[in-house]
Amino acid sequence: MGRFSGFGITIRQVGKVVTGNYPEEKRPKPARFHGRHVLNRYEDGMEKCIGCELCAGVCPARCIYVRGADNPTDAPVSPGERYGFVYEINYLRCIHCDLCVEACPTEAITETKLFEFSFTNRSDAIYTKSELLVDDTGRARRQPWELWLGGEDDDTSAWMRATAPSGQVAFEGRVGWSGELGFGVRAPEQGQTAPGPLEPAVDPADGAAHHGHGDHGHGSGGHGSGGHGSGGH
Ligand code: SF4
Ligand code: SF4
Repeated sequence: MGRFSGFGITIRQVGKVVTGNYPEEKRPKPARFHGRHVLNRYEDGMEKCIGCELCAGVCPARCIYVRGADNPTDAPVSPGERYGFVYEINYLRCIHCDLCVEACPTEAITETKLFEFSFTNRSDAIYTKSELLVDDTGRARRQPWELWLGGEDDDTSAWMRATAPSGQVAFEGRVGWSGELGFGVRAPEQGQTAPGPLEPAVDPADGAAHHGHGDHGHGSGGHGSGGHGSGGH
């Protein structure tokens, strides 16, 4: 390429705008984008977290701290026996892998798409339960150091896989976990409200039926969706 043809390439770019007006204008985020978490509640206000600590156990960055406690009988916090008494996430360590969301049996923890938060001290980076818990309308509580624009919190979300109990691929898709959760009251989780038991999976190796853990409650079913009327989450 000669000297002048190189200049030609440069000149042809004059006037083209290749940058955006960020942060006032943000690009749309992909549907499965992982941002900061929220702790969800049922539409009657009860918390979905049952303090089981599975999220903390699976977290590869060891950034979740959960301490469960027995629900007070006169004023239960969650539909389960226990609830998340202390819940913290350290965002100086979180890698937004979403494994905590995958592990949670009640869909208590999900992720929004917000990643624009800038801390000025370490304590702000450690989100407490009161900061993570959604408000009375089901929306994330906006912290002063977070940049939410417009209706960004409409897209509180998590991609939940359809589980295959006991690793049997025949069960794939049988448990109707939510897809894109969205904000507010959602449709019941099919896996928790199915009218009858699932068909047993047939092991292709021996042709025999194996029931495994294929009943429709699948662990999470006992924690309130059925007991909460609509079964929403
Ligand atoms: S997204 Fe991953 S790293 Fe972050 S809290 Fe959850 S499990 Fe831990
Ligand atoms: S896995 Fe879910 S229910 Fe269990 S402690 Fe974590 S957020 Fe709460």
